[in-house]
Amino acid sequence: MTDQAAPKISFVSLGCPKALVDSERIITKLRAEGYELTKTHAGADLVIVNTCGFLDSAKAESLEAIGKGLSENGKVIVTGCMGAEPEQIREAYPAVSAITGPQAYESVMQAVHEVAPPLHNPFLDLVPEQGVKLTPRHYAYLKISEGCNNRCTFCIIPKLRGDLVSRPLAEVMREAEKLVKAGVKELLVISQDTSAYGVDLKYSPSLWQDVEYRTRFLDLAKALSTLGVWVRLHYVYPYPHVDEVIPLMGEMTESGGVIVPYLDIPFQHAAPNVLKAMKRPAHAEKILQRVEKWREIRPDLAIRSTFIVGFPGETEEDFEELLGFLSAAKLERVGAFKYEPVRGAPANDLGLAVVPPEEQQRRYDRFMAHQQAISARLQQRRVGQRIKVIVDAPGPTVSKGRSMWDAPEIDGSVYVASRRPLRAGDVVSVKIERADAYDLHGTAV
Ligand code: SF4
Repeated sequence: MTDQAAPKISFVSLGCPKALVDSERIITKLRAEGYELTKTHAGADLVIVNTCGFLDSAKAESLEAIGKGLSENGKVIVTGCMGAEPEQIREAYPAVSAITGPQAYESVMQAVHEVAPPLHNPFLDLVPEQGVKLTPRHYAYLKISEGCNNRCTFCIIPKLRGDLVSRPLAEVMREAEKLVKAGVKELLVISQDTSAYGVDLKYSPSLWQDVEYRTRFLDLAKALSTLGVWVRLHYVYPYPHVDEVIPLMGEMTESGGVIVPYLDIPFQHAAPNVLKAMKRPAHAEKILQRVEKWREIRPDLAIRSTFIVGFPGETEEDFEELLGFLSAAKLERVGAFKYEPVRGAPANDLGLAVVPPEEQQRRYDRFMAHQQAISARLQQRRVGQRIKVIVDAPGPTVSKGRSMWDAPEIDGSVYVASRRPLRAGDVVSVKIERADAYDLHGTAV
């Protein structure tokens, strides 16, 4: 054995769950090569910043993180979405050691080897088989594809990440199985467009556990439901074939696993001219019909969505149409962003009237107040019900968890009073006694 200390890396992970998965992959490689991770920049051999380049505010945050790494350490490698536009980074910080784009794991590792060479020690291969996860042990993100075939005008992801590339079903399932074996109790399926899964592979057959599946959304849901854990579907678009997955939801399989009755669908807007200007792949009226149909099949389905307010050309009428859609669709969980122009996005060149920032803010506030009243009413339905809750953060008398209708980090929580000690990842039955606009409160039964 060598008595040399392992090189230390300070890792900053910014951006969305998809970027988090990239961070996990890089960290897995680092740990496999014997690098140590440290929480502080000072004393590390190198800082890696995984950046987000989606909105200007995210870019500003990324640049700030790079600046901090340089001032506190001096050696910084930049990767992630913002790395696809290296000029901006070089302009602000010529001293960065290397810049690579999203999913460029090999290039990141090459840059790391140059700045902080690895130790050659065969005994340092300490990585658990399922890789390293940055999320708590009981839930994990499962990335099923990269890139996107849509061309929404506010988005540069297809430019940064290219067209859709799906992972074959068996490969996704092998990763899912490893995660479950390692103690994961909830899998969060992510991609840019989950319902388009497999289109690029022409839904090719894929053999997993001697069963022939096809690489497509419905088969993936069926296969994942056999793993004995909660499965949550994110970034789904309201295409007709999503209808087939709805009956599977909430139905516990023999394994004890379940596709939770939850869909995360980024609608972005509801007014036809705004959707058209955004080049979104769906039409508002059809969306509403579709949502109604799903609720007929699965009345307890919770839908989460995000919207953009103040998109160029959005009129007061368009905005009111959006509020009307919220009233009609009664979505359980909703987030909103004020439109921000992203450099390189086609929306900047549409020649549409810019909504002034004060008006954007007013609409945003109206939007949030409108939705809060809807969410609060929907939350009240849960009072008196007995529901299943997965524990995220155990406490001495009250633990924090989530229902099947809440995703980690973005949705509400359930506060569970319990006389017996609970552990993270436990699934418990809870009688709900009280609800506020976002959270529920109850007692374990
Ligand atoms: S669906 Fe639209 S917003 Fe989402 S990644 Fe693709 S182009 Fe971007």
